[in-house]
Amino acid sequence: MHAEDLLRRYLEQRRDQGEVELVLDTLSVEDVMQIIGAARRGRADAAPTPPAPGDWRHALRSAGAEVSTATPARRPLEPAPLEAPTAPAALPPDGLVVGTEGNELFGGELAHCQTIDDVAALIKGCRKCDLYRTAKHPVPGEGSAAARLVCVGEAPGASEDETGRPFVGQAGMLLTKILEAIKLSRDEAFIVNVLKHRPPGNRNPLPTEVDACRPYLIRQLEIIRPSVIVAFGTFAAQTLLDTKLSISKLRGAIHRYHGIPVVVTYHPAALLRNPAWKRPTWEDVQLARRLLDGVRK
Ligand code: SF4
Repeated sequence: MHAEDLLRRYLEQRRDQGEVELVLDTLSVEDVMQIIGAARRGRADAAPTPPAPGDWRHALRSAGAEVSTATPARRPLEPAPLEAPTAPAALPPDGLVVGTEGNELFGGELAHCQTIDDVAALIKGCRKCDLYRTAKHPVPGEGSAAARLVCVGEAPGASEDETGRPFVGQAGMLLTKILEAIKLSRDEAFIVNVLKHRPPGNRNPLPTEVDACRPYLIRQLEIIRPSVIVAFGTFAAQTLLDTKLSISKLRGAIHRYHGIPVVVTYHPAALLRNPAWKRPTWEDVQLARRLLDGVRK
């Protein structure tokens, strides 16, 4: 059987199946014309009839196929429209929530803060969670706005609440010594907590309080742009790194917080209770020192 007969039969089958439109698939018009032309050249009894360039209907008609000149009705390709529900569907259950309704990402108050002092002023008047009601003073953080190292702790304790300063009291004095051990004064670093008001009775911060307060820390880090962050204690590490892993699993690695290297170590208050952790803490801050030495701001 000649190629044009095969092609005609194929087209007839498709028409019988209800198709009114020729879809060339991967064949171009020229491909079809070549097939037909080659078939006709191969038939001794047929004079070659060059088809009009680009006119596949003419080419097929020349090959003997019945081709309508009318534009075929387009078969609807779209799926049938969905039937309108008889009753409004119930809303799906609540999903995950990231951030607060303050819309810090889209030009909220924090987006206008250009300095550490701007952020501190906002914290002073913050009412985003209930901790301000029981705290005596906000503790926004202190140190150099150009610090290459930021120390992040959990939340203010009693001494911090009294003074409005982070890491004071015995744990604060130990932090000062830790920094001196890596040749940094407190003034050269920036010292801050995840929460800016003291939870009553030093209880663990609630997730809603962390979510409400986290944007302040993020903005502080954005403004300071430190070379290294040291997370002191489980809570600071888990909050910064958004993980539930224990501090023993987080230590000894260089994590990243928005690209900034993060070293995890024990909280100075924990060192006061467990002196055996002093040595690993020493190793951790030495790692921070090495990162500082290798990273120029
Ligand atoms: S703890 Fe943070 S979020 Fe809560 S009131 Fe204080 S500054 Fe605002």
